[in-house]
Amino acid sequence: MAATNGSIFAAMLQEFDGAARILNLEPGIWKILTHAKRQIIVSCPVQMDNGEIEVFTGYRVQYNITLGPAKGGIRYHPGVTLDEVTALAAWMTWKCAVAHIPFGGGKGGVICDPTKMSKREIEALTRRYIAEIVDAIGPEKDVPAPDVNTNEQIMAWVMDTYSMHVGHTTTSVVTGKPIELGGSLGRREATGRGVMIVTREAVKHLGFSLKGATVAVQGFGNVGSVSAQLLAEQGAKIVAVTDWKGGVFNKNGLDITKLAAQVQQTKTVDGFPGGESLPAADLFSLDVDILIPAALENQITVENAPAIKAKVVIEGANGPTTPDAHRHLHERGVFVVPDILANSSGVTTSYFEWVQDRYGYFWSEKEVNERLEAKMCEAFNAVLQTSLKYKVDMRTAAYIVAISRVATVTRMRGMYA
Ligand code: NAD
Repeated sequence: MAATNGSIFAAMLQEFDGAARILNLEPGIWKILTHAKRQIIVSCPVQMDNGEIEVFTGYRVQYNITLGPAKGGIRYHPGVTLDEVTALAAWMTWKCAVAHIPFGGGKGGVICDPTKMSKREIEALTRRYIAEIVDAIGPEKDVPAPDVNTNEQIMAWVMDTYSMHVGHTTTSVVTGKPIELGGSLGRREATGRGVMIVTREAVKHLGFSLKGATVAVQGFGNVGSVSAQLLAEQGAKIVAVTDWKGGVFNKNGLDITKLAAQVQQTKTVDGFPGGESLPAADLFSLDVDILIPAALENQITVENAPAIKAKVVIEGANGPTTPDAHRHLHERGVFVVPDILANSSGVTTSYFEWVQDRYGYFWSEKEVNERLEAKMCEAFNAVLQTSLKYKVDMRTAAYIVAISRVATVTRMRGMYA
């Protein structure tokens, strides 16, 4: 495998190339799909609380808008780079295509450390960043959402700033908003719900059931806690959970409702009285049926992959498995459901939010969940059938599905010149 020299975009290209080769993608389409359509760099001057002016660099990348408006979050972090934002925008392109929703892929980022900024400074930065990219975004152009260090409140400011510029309230310019401002019911639980659905479908395919299946979960935040709760409701036994501080194990299954109540109070699963203490590093080697990394990227590596005993790995997090570790797991017959499928229900529900905002008519939580169930089953089955047809792992299959969908529409639309 070629060296990527630390470039995240180069790593994305490696995954792309593997699938494109199997598809026999023609060189012209290959070139189009490996170039970002638009990369915007802006300088955002902000008057800080001490009266001084700071200038923050912001990016917005619209990687591909063939299927519809660009869709992707805004990240606030000191380590943001154009390379990273471009790679993340490309991954959003493939994720939206796998989810079969009419969106392209985008991503935004601002180089800043929000942990060292006041609420007023973050609001001022958000409004200036959006003002700088206001001509490039919009319900039919590019629809941002939350990502690392951005939240509902920041999305409300994005919506307000855009609305002030265009002169009327436009809720559908951004998703992940508070419910009162046009957010969707079910959005908070959506990613965990999708993880539960693909886990259920994966074990069904492998010939066993969630009832009594043992599960280990890394991370107990939004994705990990909801996945654990919903899998437990389906009869699975969540035997282990770890987080930033430590872990907890109970061979008879943890009481997830009680664990969630403790985490509300102490911010960690560590010290939970309903099980024994588990060193975080021991999670991956547990003798369980299902392993769900739902915390950070690059957690399953060639060092710890050989110890994994689970039959199924569901990537709740983005990029939790390194490419070498993935190859190792696949060769050993471990069924890995890749991130661009497993956690795509987050963006699918963002799509539902955009639809409801444009429609001006809002669905009940039951309707949102039923539509999500249908979309996730459709996506899982498309990837599974592709993996069986081409005799490839589920990650390669997900890329094949995504690339074929974007390539087909690119060919149909033809070349504008
Ligand atoms: P979160 O911040 O709510 O939770 C993260 C969890 O990971 C916390 O429990 C934290 O304690 C734990 N953690 C941090 N460091 C850890 C470590 N070293 N070892 C074990 N656990 C550790 O985040 P989230 O929204 O649940 O997102 C988790 C992952 O899922 C991320 O990769 C994110 O990009 C991805 N994702 C989230 C969504 C969504 O809708 N929230 C959608 C798609 C993908």
